[in-house]
Amino acid sequence: MQLQGLALEELTSQLQERGIPAYRAKQMMEWVYKKRITSWGEMKNLPLALREELAETYPLIFPEVVTISGSHDTTQKFLLRFSDGEMIETVLIPASPALYGEESDRRTLCVSTQVGCAYGCKFCASGLDGFKRNLRVDEIISQVLLVEKESGHRINNLVFMGMGEPLANFENLNKAITILNAPWGIGLGARKITVSTSGLAPQIREFADRPEQIRLAISLHGATDDVRLQIMPINKRYPIAELMEACAYYAARKKQLITFEYILIAGVNDQLEQARLLAQHAQRLRAKINLIPYNKVEGLPWERPSEQAQQAFLGELRQQRVPATIRREKGHDIDAACGQLRRRMKSEENSQG
Ligand code: SAH
Ligand code: SF4
Repeated sequence: MQLQGLALEELTSQLQERGIPAYRAKQMMEWVYKKRITSWGEMKNLPLALREELAETYPLIFPEVVTISGSHDTTQKFLLRFSDGEMIETVLIPASPALYGEESDRRTLCVSTQVGCAYGCKFCASGLDGFKRNLRVDEIISQVLLVEKESGHRINNLVFMGMGEPLANFENLNKAITILNAPWGIGLGARKITVSTSGLAPQIREFADRPEQIRLAISLHGATDDVRLQIMPINKRYPIAELMEACAYYAARKKQLITFEYILIAGVNDQLEQARLLAQHAQRLRAKINLIPYNKVEGLPWERPSEQAQQAFLGELRQQRVPATIRREKGHDIDAACGQLRRRMKSEENSQG
């Protein structure tokens, strides 16, 4: 197993079974997560023989950075290739000066959890070619380590909004979060981590039982079953009532850590009646709402509503006193960067022959 996919406790007990003292596990974690070395040869305080022995059991291999696109003061996209040839994208988004001020050093990383996606939301590019495979824990963690190394900056916010459905890769997601959050690991605060889900109700409940204050984003995109069913097949399995119950369970444990994401698609879910019902769902859970004007995906029929229609929808939510924002800014926009990854990669792949 890859070294950067192991939790300290697990590594410690595995080493102890081999008669290697616990402090060696601590040293190894420190090299990987604090000193950020990328090869076994650099672990200077471990005897050579031990390094050679352990490197076989726990390789430290990173995905290949195929391309980096975008500039460092706007969104940067990192195309990564794993050893089996599969590729995913990880997106680094600096703070929007308009939202956080010129001085903000907020850096958000949008991380993928699967190659492809099985949930087939009708508006989303990530699911267009179906599901390929889950990412392993080390493949999730490597996205953070590689982007920090390549960009020269630490990230201080992380959203699981890249390719794939995080809660469908449940075990690996949970272990990755443990490593991200741990003081011996990447050390990112729980409140700086957001998991976005299309609404897997049972997994939301199970995830709620973790002790940390991790943020949850629900890709709602419709306030009633009939609207949601038009664009999200998952709603057949977990209708809105069941999803809201799972969210209430989460909210009861985490205190105001839920956000509803709502893509605005012209003529599909942008009616003011949907806004009123959406506001009611949000009020019950004390959830915030992020409106995301739909980003056109080539080959799909959906369009974003007019500026006027967007403002009217937002106005209706605000009238109900629900905290709501529209995310729109180009280049600084998480939502413009995430959610459409597969397509872009495919066309890059094609253009590279
Ligand atoms: N599978 C998870 C996380 C990945 S998608 C989920 O669905 O929540 C991250 C966000 O991007 C989701 O809210 C998704 O609905 C949204 N998204 C997908 N395609 C989009 C598009 N073309 N324009 C705007 N947002 C999109
Ligand atoms: Fe999958 Fe999320 Fe895209 Fe739906 S929106 S297809 S769940 S990645």
